[in-house]
Amino acid sequence: MNLLIFGPPGAGKGTQAARIGAQRGIPHISTGEMLRMAVESGSELGERVKAIVERGHLVSDEVMGELVEQRLAEPDAAAGFLLDGFPRTAPQVEILDRILGDDRRVDAVLMLEVPDEELVQRLLRRASVEGRPDDNRETIEERLRVYRARTAPVAGIYQERGVLRAVDGTGSIDQVFTRIEAVLDRAAAEGA
Ligand code: ADP
Repeated sequence: MNLLIFGPPGAGKGTQAARIGAQRGIPHISTGEMLRMAVESGSELGERVKAIVERGHLVSDEVMGELVEQRLAEPDAAAGFLLDGFPRTAPQVEILDRILGDDRRVDAVLMLEVPDEELVQRLLRRASVEGRPDDNRETIEERLRVYRARTAPVAGIYQERGVLRAVDGTGSIDQVFTRIEAVLDRAAAEGA
């Protein structure tokens, strides 16, 4: 299955995606994680994106497209993948369509839904536990704003294609994972 996981910052995408990937035997490809690793390693890409990511802004569609194209060309992604963090803008949807070409398609898009107040609380908690450089109040608000303006429209595109699956992202990690499993089983049964 070729899956996307989608939702606002703090919705729990990374946590759930790691579990889904392990469960279904497909690679979990997180663009946020790839960028953070690039920044930490001090690579040329890392140098280019550091300030953008730390401010909560979006890296350019072109740079992201190249990164994802290279990753999806790896052999482990041939039999399925779970993309987390891409596509994040309407143009990135087109880029992904082009990368997948005629013989691969997105089977299901999981959209994790969590109310805004809870998102901010979760991200502030994560800030004190993990110390991610983009988890501070100012950047969190900027990321939520960017999400609403640039990323939320992506849901509409997949909704029109009939592959969007909303999942309630509140409750415990296990509860959310159980809901996701049910949604994916249903999608598979419907022939996705
Ligand atoms: P979040 O938890 O805020 O959803 P991610 O870990 O997915 O964050 O991504 C962290 C940051 O990496 C984003 O705020 C953004 O700066 C950058 N980023 C990740 N994926 C993309 C993308 N597809 N397009 C542009 N920027 C991206």
